[in-house]
Amino acid sequence: MKVIRARVLGFCMGVRRAVEIALDEAKGVSGHIPVYTLGPLIHNPQVLETLKDQGIAILQEGNFDDLKGKTVLIRAHGVNPQVEERLLAAGARVRDVTCPRVKKSQMEARSLTEAGYCLFLAGEKDHGEIIGIQGYAPDCVVVANPPDAEAAAEKLHRQAPQAKTALLGQTTLSADEYGAIGERIRKWFPELKIIDTICGATRDRQNALKELCSCVDAVIIAGGKTSANTRRLLSIAQSLNKPAWLVENEGEIPGEIGTYAVVGLSAGASTPDTVIDAVEKALYAL
Ligand code: SF4
Repeated sequence: MKVIRARVLGFCMGVRRAVEIALDEAKGVSGHIPVYTLGPLIHNPQVLETLKDQGIAILQEGNFDDLKGKTVLIRAHGVNPQVEERLLAAGARVRDVTCPRVKKSQMEARSLTEAGYCLFLAGEKDHGEIIGIQGYAPDCVVVANPPDAEAAAEKLHRQAPQAKTALLGQTTLSADEYGAIGERIRKWFPELKIIDTICGATRDRQNALKELCSCVDAVIIAGGKTSANTRRLLSIAQSLNKPAWLVENEGEIPGEIGTYAVVGLSAGASTPDTVIDAVEKALYAL
């Protein structure tokens, strides 16, 4: 079997940065331990296990009674600013490892709201990044897909036809979906200001996978099953009619993959190099 890796795969800048800072903090580089992450740092079980081994515990939201002397890391998806205030009030030392690109969206949300824009926020309503951005623009309307966006725009148009409107999106949306959401809103608000918030890291992994699919017989996506961007890679491969599987580790590689002559390998933005290497090695061993 021949295995071809996608041109771009695995950890993105924001995740690599968050994990490196977390590991540094666990070593006590800033002299503040114990270290906690607010919720799981990223959606990858092996990385979470490594962080646990290094003594980093997960702090659940709401459990902020006494955090004096404790470091709490805010993860790459960012967090609602009110949560950060509560952490500080409980005495925590807050280390914000929000990805700079997500931070930029948060700041845009705040400045557009202050400038009087009615803000549409495209993305998954329950995703941490969207919940965090909402904290900077409490009146924004979250829209999950193009029909949802049009319904929300029509409703706003009935209430405030002259409203100044702007659109921000979750960094991991596909450019096509974000464009379709913008078009639907522009039916009602032609002057809609669209902010380009799509992260190049997501686009690069998706484009590299599309290229890969043109020259392989089947595809393995390595990564966490709860990672949205990893699952999206799987659905892209499947939409291109490639037999494709999402595996969290080499032990999950299906035996059937051995029947294909050329197998493509890609990985989500939260998948560490160690997992990609182990999956590749196991594929060659089939
Ligand atoms: S996918 Fe992009 S926005 Fe999200 S953490 Fe990675 S670099 Fe940042």
